[in-house]
Amino acid sequence: MTPSPSDTAANLEPMLQGLNPEQREAVTHEAGPLLIVAGAGTGKTQVITRRIAWLIGTKRARPEEVLALTFADKAASEMETRVDELVPYGFVGATISTFHAFCDRLVREHAIEIGLTSQLRVGTRADLLVFLRERLFELGLDRYLPLGEPDRHLDALLTVFDRARDEDVSPERYLAFAESLAAAASGDPVLTDRAAMELEKAHAYGAYQRLLFEHGRVDFGAQIALALRLLRERPHLAREVQERFRHVLVDEFQDTNHVQFEILKLLVGRRRNLTVVGDDDQSIYRFRGAKIENLLGFLEVYPDARVTVLRRNYRSGQRILDLSHRMVRFNDPERLEAKDPARFAKGLIAERGLEGEVEYRAFESGSDEADAVADDIARGLAEGRGAGEFAVLARTHAQLDPVAQALRARGVRFRRTNQRGLYERAEVKLCLNALRLLADPDDGPAAFGVLADPLFGVTPDDLLRLTARAHRTNLSLRAVAERASADLSAGLSADSVEGIRRAVELLQRLAAEATRRPTSEVLYRFVTESGLLGQLSAEDSAEATEKVQNLNRLFTIVTRVGPLLKSDRVTYFMRHLDLLIDAGDDPQAAVVDSDDQSVALLTAHNAKGLEYPIVYMVQLVEGRFPLQLRGDPLPFPPELHRGGEPRAEHLREERRLFYVAMTRARDRLVMSHAADYGGKRLRKASGFLLEALELPAPPKPARRASAGESIARHAPAAEAPASPSGLEPLADDAPLALSNQRIDDYVSCPLKYRYAHVVQVPLASDPTFMYGTAIHHAIRVFLQHRIRGMPISATDVLKTFEEAWSSEGFYSREHEERRLAEGREALRRFVTRELATGHKPLASELEFRFKVSEHDQVSGRWDRIDEAADGIVLVDYKTSAVDDPDSAKSRASESLREEQLGLYALAYHETRGVMPARAQLHFIGSGIVGEARVELKHLESARERIRAAAAGIRRADFTPSPEPRRCTYCPYHRFCPHSAALGLR
Ligand code: SF4
Repeated sequence: MTPSPSDTAANLEPMLQGLNPEQREAVTHEAGPLLIVAGAGTGKTQVITRRIAWLIGTKRARPEEVLALTFADKAASEMETRVDELVPYGFVGATISTFHAFCDRLVREHAIEIGLTSQLRVGTRADLLVFLRERLFELGLDRYLPLGEPDRHLDALLTVFDRARDEDVSPERYLAFAESLAAAASGDPVLTDRAAMELEKAHAYGAYQRLLFEHGRVDFGAQIALALRLLRERPHLAREVQERFRHVLVDEFQDTNHVQFEILKLLVGRRRNLTVVGDDDQSIYRFRGAKIENLLGFLEVYPDARVTVLRRNYRSGQRILDLSHRMVRFNDPERLEAKDPARFAKGLIAERGLEGEVEYRAFESGSDEADAVADDIARGLAEGRGAGEFAVLARTHAQLDPVAQALRARGVRFRRTNQRGLYERAEVKLCLNALRLLADPDDGPAAFGVLADPLFGVTPDDLLRLTARAHRTNLSLRAVAERASADLSAGLSADSVEGIRRAVELLQRLAAEATRRPTSEVLYRFVTESGLLGQLSAEDSAEATEKVQNLNRLFTIVTRVGPLLKSDRVTYFMRHLDLLIDAGDDPQAAVVDSDDQSVALLTAHNAKGLEYPIVYMVQLVEGRFPLQLRGDPLPFPPELHRGGEPRAEHLREERRLFYVAMTRARDRLVMSHAADYGGKRLRKASGFLLEALELPAPPKPARRASAGESIARHAPAAEAPASPSGLEPLADDAPLALSNQRIDDYVSCPLKYRYAHVVQVPLASDPTFMYGTAIHHAIRVFLQHRIRGMPISATDVLKTFEEAWSSEGFYSREHEERRLAEGREALRRFVTRELATGHKPLASELEFRFKVSEHDQVSGRWDRIDEAADGIVLVDYKTSAVDDPDSAKSRASESLREEQLGLYALAYHETRGVMPARAQLHFIGSGIVGEARVELKHLESARERIRAAAAGIRRADFTPSPEPRRCTYCPYHRFCPHSAALGLR
């Protein structure tokens, strides 16, 4: 390597400090493809972040020329923080993103170029199922459309479509394949039948794609496939991206699917500066389409790639490493090490110099196993260990239930991450029951659910009296409750009557709304008018925060599903939500990470990337770990499948998962199984356990499972014991991410910040906000076309605006129509003005990020940057109504002094080292521009605001600062106990 002028010892020191020779070799790789094979615990994140910092710090790449891709938001933000800490001047500006976010942005910015709407709606798989169910008869189905139960095969068909997309099989290719089958069948009845089956699936796949594109619907996988299509079909765009990103780095490369690797090849182009980091032994996402073949075959695509294998493990004891390696080698020959043992030797070496303990325990029953694990942990805690040192891992969430119950019985705090079950949470159930009751007043269980909720204070005895009365009189529970609320002689307690009256009156009020307004608005009124949101938001505990966040998630679903329906009213919504639930939609409930001082209960998948001093692996029996392969109900043609035989692939993947679980342990690994978990038969120890420990196969169990264990299986899942408090001050060295909105909220009222960003209280749909977002979106698309020198007409801009439009929250149809017309007119004038000036902006919607102290960082986005004769001009677009030049000017001055323009000016100065000349507010409606010159005092005042907000947030000081005008415009004033809003409460 030829040292560049920037390779001075002082520059390189922080980037290379503490690296071992292999890590150093990988970090300082000059150019061209690089494959880093990083075994568990060998510091791969360290290597990828140091490499980014090295590329930037030694000026081999400018920050904006680096693209790093990961699979999870958390991994991306951790990577970003680490790189920021390494680069001397504290600002990076590299694009560090998840694959999804990167592809989403690429597709949205260029959708028009491939005939798509720029306003794609991204949904979950369950959303797409609902969407398709509504259009079932447009798929051209016959044998897969039994008229008695038309949606019977829908889920299976969607699985086939997803597989085809992940395998990069287009509808045209699928159809060509099916037609080739038909041509080759030559009268053979079996072959003809198979060809007919594949033809029907191929046609339906094509129709499905058309429907999605027509309606602008995609799921996450489809977004990535669209990005590939865009790069393939628009070579100029591929070239533009290649020119922009001179170095592409990918973390967890073993988790990429076929389409993602194709995208990477196009992103790096002929320059081929592609660094991938991965471990074939930790590839565990085959069910999401991950192709271990990408890693195994990397050298076939890039034969001259440099290879570095990281073997020094900084986590586990040597015995833990040796046994896990022995076990995973049963996957040979489908491993890099087996393919080329000299180059890819993967036996890990424990750098901590510890032997490490591995223990194996066999139990009679699952309850014995759970009790033993819980006793062991309780003993460890009594001896002074921290709860955060322990983790219990299993293959599935359900397998953790017995340990959860045993821990709870001993009062040991634990946390279960990524558990699903949003719809099972009490606060969410209450809302769903209320909506069900609005959709069907005779729904007895829903009425029971609402009245039984503690919010209304109806005593259990009185509730039973009501249900008995409903039964006797043959009336619905709601009808009986309505009578009781008006009848003081009904024999119920005064508190119960009061609670019933409140519930009945609220539901009566909302019943009228439910037929006229979108579901989200009705739901919002229920949570605010019932007092639920106010009660939870005022409570300072982790549980209350979790509940509000669950409500927030419910609102996200309601606002996502509502527009999928032909009519967004409660009746239709509830019907579809039930279909979603039937389709397997089970969103994750919120988990407030209020403390790490609890035992972690995790699935092996969720444990990836984590480590604990002591790890228990439980329920290690055949059928549970490995899980049995469940075949697809409708087969995907093996001729179109890339990869090996599915059964063998499945077993190898389970073995890798077992390997991941074993290598989470630092000092001690306890693996156990029981013979009796209830059910019809006794269980055999997992083959993986035998492989790891070199045990002989156990004799076949003779006894049947016991009745006691069978009953124990049905015990309800234990919830963690309550954690004591909600919000703790943030540690001084914990990273804090700020934005203009966050700073503004905190500075205006710390309690408002808490509601918005800590508790995340849901808000009603706000048409003003939606209007602003749709206008900004249309302007962005227009400006980006101008910057690229591509043609775009006013009609295109209006179409983009309308695609981003949503009808929610308007008072009436007329209100919406008038607002829409106003937006169209404002944009028409905007486009005319812009085209008349002929001026091209320097940038639009450009993101920034800078540090204000070692651990505080601010990020945001400039709407527009112009270059004028006197310097840089920062522009912010506003949709608020300002129609005289004086007001516009004073708004701009004020914003520069104490609001967002000041922060944007500071951001420009910090990230570009240049003081902007002017800052402007463009009022879109009137076309008037307010402007002010940027001065040093503005930057200092912005710095001061950030410092004040950061200090308060770090102290967790959320003292309210009510003031009549502020509270009147605060979205939380309806339930905020401190509100000083005048005449609104
Ligand atoms: S209503 Fe007033 S006191 Fe309450 S959060 Fe909003 S601004 Fe703060």
